[in-house]
Amino acid sequence: MVAPHEPEFDQAYKEIISSVEDSKLFNAHPELRRVLPIISIPERVLQFRVTWEDDQGNCRVNTGYRVQFNSALGPYKGGLRFHPSVNLSILKFLGFEQIFKNALTGLPMGGGKGGSDFDPKGKSDSEIRRFSQAFMRQLFRYIGPQTDVPAGDIGVTGFVVNAMFGEYKRLRDEYSGVLTGKHMLTGGSNVRPEATGFGVVYYVCHMIQYASKSTKGITGKRVAISGSGNVAQYAALKCMELGAVVKSLSDSKGALIATSPEGLTPDVIYKIQELKEKRLAITDSLELTNKHKFIAGARPWTHVGEVDIALPCATQNEVSGEEAEALIKAGCRFVAEGSNMGSSAEAVEVFEKSRANGKGCWLAPGKAANAGGVAVSGLEMAQNAQFSTWSHSEVDGRLADIMNSIFTQSTDAASKYCESGSNNLPSLFDGANLAGFIRVARAM
Ligand code: GLU
Repeated sequence: MVAPHEPEFDQAYKEIISSVEDSKLFNAHPELRRVLPIISIPERVLQFRVTWEDDQGNCRVNTGYRVQFNSALGPYKGGLRFHPSVNLSILKFLGFEQIFKNALTGLPMGGGKGGSDFDPKGKSDSEIRRFSQAFMRQLFRYIGPQTDVPAGDIGVTGFVVNAMFGEYKRLRDEYSGVLTGKHMLTGGSNVRPEATGFGVVYYVCHMIQYASKSTKGITGKRVAISGSGNVAQYAALKCMELGAVVKSLSDSKGALIATSPEGLTPDVIYKIQELKEKRLAITDSLELTNKHKFIAGARPWTHVGEVDIALPCATQNEVSGEEAEALIKAGCRFVAEGSNMGSSAEAVEVFEKSRANGKGCWLAPGKAANAGGVAVSGLEMAQNAQFSTWSHSEVDGRLADIMNSIFTQSTDAASKYCESGSNNLPSLFDGANLAGFIRVARAM
């Protein structure tokens, strides 16, 4: 059989396989090799038609998907993405990444992903609600709190999750934790909206402490961030809270670059939150574009000037090889992906070479650095299962502990199974892949 061309899935698959094959893992544990041919094929792929009615009364149609990739560690768990670029290659890559990310959290969750090529941009709230309900009318048969628990991803906001939750409840007559990222009044968890962004910053703080033994941590560090959705917003706010200088954000129209030395301020983030809730672009606000530099059609990496840290928080392959070189030249020492597979294969090579050469730009892959989101989803499932609600500080504390554990698992696995570079910084890229793989392979 000739497999269809699936470039994103191939890239994600090769990343894991090369980390595992190039390490000493199979020398120590030859039995784990047996899972390799099995793990690459999803347990089940669902594809379905979603018909819905637009505001003009026209019947519209989109394709919906759910990739139930691996349930060795628990029910399938992972977000839904609504974006015109969605296809099976992208969802298989995301579902595959999710298996290992979820494993790293230490919580009982398998890996899955789903979504649709539906574009929420330019649609009314009613259209989005009708589409989301129609999507759930197809998906509800295949999910449940013990089988498959979807959540949000790009284009799937709290509003969408709640519309789907209401439809599931109506169809099944069941009030359960079938989705995460729900509203607080319908079984959501404290800190879930903030979790991915906060978690990325907690992870970077561990990197800084490990690399420089600095007690100042992230305070005073200059940070380039891409994206302006939920992950970028809360990563930026946490950086600001901890005294770092946020130099950029971006959206599909271009990059917003701070022009003053103190960087972007919290009111910029609040304004962006308002805009994004209405599905508007940064360029729809004169207040933002006049006060800061807006570079149309650009990503921030080559425009942001000197930085210490880069947090790609937009989408996959958003840092090219040349941009990775430019970041290193600009002084960047830490890169942590808030997005899934934010670095292209070329960028990974550039960062990994620089780490091993002792120039020290240290890359943390998304499956480790952005696992805070799905980790708090796992905590939401636990709260739903016991019909309870944990406080903000309880959830935030658990999130911080999980990010700490993911960092330690990554450095431990890399130190145990990989050669380290001359400056002794272990590869977090290989370490996260290995630590995640080992847990899943053992369970399988
Ligand atoms: N979409 C998020 C991710 O990529 C969260 C998934 C979830 O909470 O299930 O990890």
